[in-house]
Amino acid sequence: MQFPELSERVAEVRGRIAAAVARGGHAQQVTLIAVTKTFGADAVREAWGAGVHDVGENRVQEALPKMAAVTDPVRWHLIGHLQRNKAKAAESFVLVHSLDSARLADAIHERGQARGRPADVLVQVNVAGEATKFGWSPSELEAEAERLKGLGGLRVQGVMTMAPLDAGEALLHRTFTGARQARDVLRAAGHPAAELSMGMSNDYEIAVEEGATMVRVGTLLFGGRTPAAAGHGDA
Ligand SMILES: *Cc1c(COP(=O)(O)O)cnc(C)c1O
Repeated sequence: MQFPELSERVAEVRGRIAAAVARGGHAQQVTLIAVTKTFGADAVREAWGAGVHDVGENRVQEALPKMAAVTDPVRWHLIGHLQRNKAKAAESFVLVHSLDSARLADAIHERGQARGRPADVLVQVNVAGEATKFGWSPSELEAEAERLKGLGGLRVQGVMTMAPLDAGEALLHRTFTGARQARDVLRAAGHPAAELSMGMSNDYEIAVEEGATMVRVGTLLFGGRTPAAAGHGDA
């Protein structure tokens, strides 16, 4: 076993999630997504063995070989930026968290139509307005929500956001509240939008307090990644 403490760490995170749900009062179900980027297929298998059935990868070219190497029926999530010319890869994932541009939406829609089944996606919202992050600003979202309704090749299942890396508690709460409000905008426009993917190793408890239905946790489960490979989802 490459990650001998994994079961305990999963139990710890699940316990903290439950406590955060109780504090936040949103009474939501929370899916724990184990982020296995930079780690091998063993990390995925051991996560499965520890009862975590959802796995997140941020790069298609890293994820596909792992998918081929893992036989457990893991639910694969794409959490990093997807290039438009790789839109077909969306089909390999149960959910693309990183729908971050109108052009990518069009490309995924076209693929979804071609295969006769829509792709499930989350709209990435850049709540804090960081220049280094992809996604729509909250003010752009209403217009895009209307436009996305015309794209039958995808289904907007909710919102994904990332908080600024160095954010303090107050900014974290503001960011995650903003993402929840963005989800409300999508719902008001008629999208299913039940999911709120937010929270990583350093901020998932606050995200859950603010209503996260999916948290993406890597470091806390598997340990640190080498900086060059870390990527933070934007590569
Ligand atoms: C790497 C990554 C995570 C996990 O980050 P940790 O701090 O290791 O928990 C979550 N979301 C995205 C988009 C990522 O790229």
